[in-house]
Amino acid sequence: TFNAMVIDAVDGKPKAGFRTLKVTDLPDHDVLVEIQFSTLNYKDGLAVSGKGRIARRTPLIAGIDLAGVVVESRSPHWKPGDRVVVNGFGLSETEWGGYSRYQRLKPEWLMKLPEAFSFEQAMAIGTAGYTAALCVNALERWGAIKPGEGEVLVTGAAGGVGSVAISLLSARGYNVTASTGRPETHEYLAGLGATAFVDRASLAEKGGALQKERWSGAVDSVGSTTLANVLAQTNYGGAVAACGLAGGADLPATVMPHILRGVALLGVDSVMAPMALRQAAWQTLADHLDRDRLAAMTTVEPMSKLPELAEAIVAGQTRGRVVIDVTR
Ligand code: NAP
Repeated sequence: TFNAMVIDAVDGKPKAGFRTLKVTDLPDHDVLVEIQFSTLNYKDGLAVSGKGRIARRTPLIAGIDLAGVVVESRSPHWKPGDRVVVNGFGLSETEWGGYSRYQRLKPEWLMKLPEAFSFEQAMAIGTAGYTAALCVNALERWGAIKPGEGEVLVTGAAGGVGSVAISLLSARGYNVTASTGRPETHEYLAGLGATAFVDRASLAEKGGALQKERWSGAVDSVGSTTLANVLAQTNYGGAVAACGLAGGADLPATVMPHILRGVALLGVDSVMAPMALRQAAWQTLADHLDRDRLAAMTTVEPMSKLPELAEAIVAGQTRGRVVIDVTR
């Protein structure tokens, strides 16, 4: 038997708690994985704290990410001993996820873990970090940003997506400005490669439809008025990769930056991203993410602490990335 964080419905509301399970309790999918580590993302915080409706059926094991070893496989694509990582694909939403010692999964959700990373490093990256890489790749593919030219803004800087985005962009040779609401993180963010700072409050107030041009590109994990202002401050021909809603799901913006400055709004989804985009993102991370900086942004916590860790991330108090040790 093993311990897992299970979301159940109590009086129609999602409620998460630990439960003892057996391998035979898991869904009847083709690949059984022994999980080494999972991680905590904003969405996990919503799921475990019950502050967001993430699970769309119950009961369901929470955790949108996992890294581990294949122990049994009915699929020709995977064999025992393979090192794998799973990000998204509905885990913790419609499928059973990573807050568990074992999980049975569909073969097409699994990706071979790059040799470059340990299980712990893979989960230090997790969905937040892999999404940051999807954003950086999207900006480069669009052709909006070039290393050494202009300024790239990262919002929600001290969070998980933000921390990895800053490290990656800085390693790729971009000038990175970090927007944070926590001045006490400036030293930490400078250590990841940020060279300038913006107070997030200055982006939270409604501003003009076209503002002074400041950014060649941006990675936004905040949404709402912040994203509207970032678009209004983006240079002619620039682009913003939007992946988050930590500040709100609305977008009180105008079309002006798009129709007068050709600014592009690039939407980034990690959950159902096709395998080719996932592999490219993990390759970007393998090639450019500084391992010391990754370690500097990561804390490892036991699964038993998930309830309090979930409250903290939803309250915006988590710095960088949190790895979850599913054996403790
Ligand atoms: P996180 O670690 O909690 O980071 C979010 C950061 O946003 C916080 O650290 C904080 O940064 C800032 N923030 C929090 N509340 C805010 C508010 N009310 N107004 C403005 N800024 C606020 O979460 P994460 O795991 O990195 O995820 C970040 C966002 O991206 C979430 O909305 C998440 O759902 C989304 N996401 C989406 C995808 C996708 O597939 N599209 C994938 C991963 C994540 P400062 O303290 O530095 O200001």
